[in-house]
Amino acid sequence: MLRFRSLGSGSTGNATLVEARSEGRTSRLLIDCGFGIRELDKRLARAGLAASDIDAVFITHEHGDHIGCARNLSKRDRIPVWMSEGTWLANGGHDYEGRLRLARDGMAIDVGELQVRPFTVPHDAREPLQLRCSDGNRTLGVLTDLGHVTPHVIGQLQKVDALLLEFNHDVDLLAASAYPPFLKLRVGGNYGHLSNSAAAEIARTLLHDGLRHVLAAHLSEQNNRPDIVRRLMAEALGGAERDMLTADAAEGSAWLDL
Ligand SMILES: [Zn+2]
Ligand SMILES: [Zn+2]
Repeated sequence: MLRFRSLGSGSTGNATLVEARSEGRTSRLLIDCGFGIRELDKRLARAGLAASDIDAVFITHEHGDHIGCARNLSKRDRIPVWMSEGTWLANGGHDYEGRLRLARDGMAIDVGELQVRPFTVPHDAREPLQLRCSDGNRTLGVLTDLGHVTPHVIGQLQKVDALLLEFNHDVDLLAASAYPPFLKLRVGGNYGHLSNSAAAEIARTLLHDGLRHVLAAHLSEQNNRPDIVRRLMAEALGGAERDMLTADAAEGSAWLDL
């Protein structure tokens, strides 16, 4: 069985738990740990877990809302940390006491019962990767922090059973916001973040009969609103707005089973 849960998502911090269970064995991957270590501990506790329950961490890119406490966590709990070489170098090339694992686009990574396949996305980081995770039966796609969608991204996410998908901003709210012009250009640019309409288009493209959950993530607290996201999701996926799922910055989401 595969299940996942956001521990919080937004520009102030992101972390997602993915868990696979098979024949009495359980494997857990933490994707990003963009919080301080005490805050991460609290969020793990709310999910019924401790850091020692995590088998590996995967860092998607070096931005602070994703890499957060990776070094401290790895050191304290002796957890291996996967990231691209570019992410590692951009973050200072630190020593992970032998627990650093380098990932690259297309690589097949096993974390116990979980099979992880990273893929490249266009974002203003050095070598950002997003993920496809499977227990050999069900598959979760994780896609945040990208400025636009590419054929490569769509190719990697075909037939996923669940999708954690960035709905970063509403273009009108971003244009009208108090953000300085350079930041508006960065966020809305080709190497920034997905607008709601771009995300809805991706959801529409990846929709198939087996798609059980779409969890909207990385919503901007200033340039977006959950009700706008839910309306667009309902239009793209079919179904009622009240049934559409958005990850919260403070609370994340419930466990979602596949
Ligand atoms: Zn981010
Ligand atoms: Zn980023």
